[in-house]
Amino acid sequence: MAEPRAFYRSYIDNGERAGQVKRLHVMREDGTRPGQQGWCGTQAGDVTNSGAVVLHALPHVPPDGLTWCGNCVIALARRALRTGDPVEAPDA
Ligand SMILES: [Zn+2]
Repeated sequence: MAEPRAFYRSYIDNGERAGQVKRLHVMREDGTRPGQQGWCGTQAGDVTNSGAVVLHALPHVPPDGLTWCGNCVIALARRALRTGDPVEAPDA
């Protein structure tokens, strides 16, 4: 599996995030809609009044003000256990 990406929703046009955005999701890169949703089902594409900001590698620590989406992290861990495909830590 390629290095997963992470994303968060922005909610305003210029790419900055609003205060209500707290979760950093893990992009699902396989399945029926690869690269279009998180492991928790959150949409990763742009929707009305809400863009998505994509990080091209999983950071060790989420950007300031965000925490990992627990549903995404658990789903990714379960997938890694099922497939034996290790989830590589990002290069330090
Ligand atoms: Zn999520």
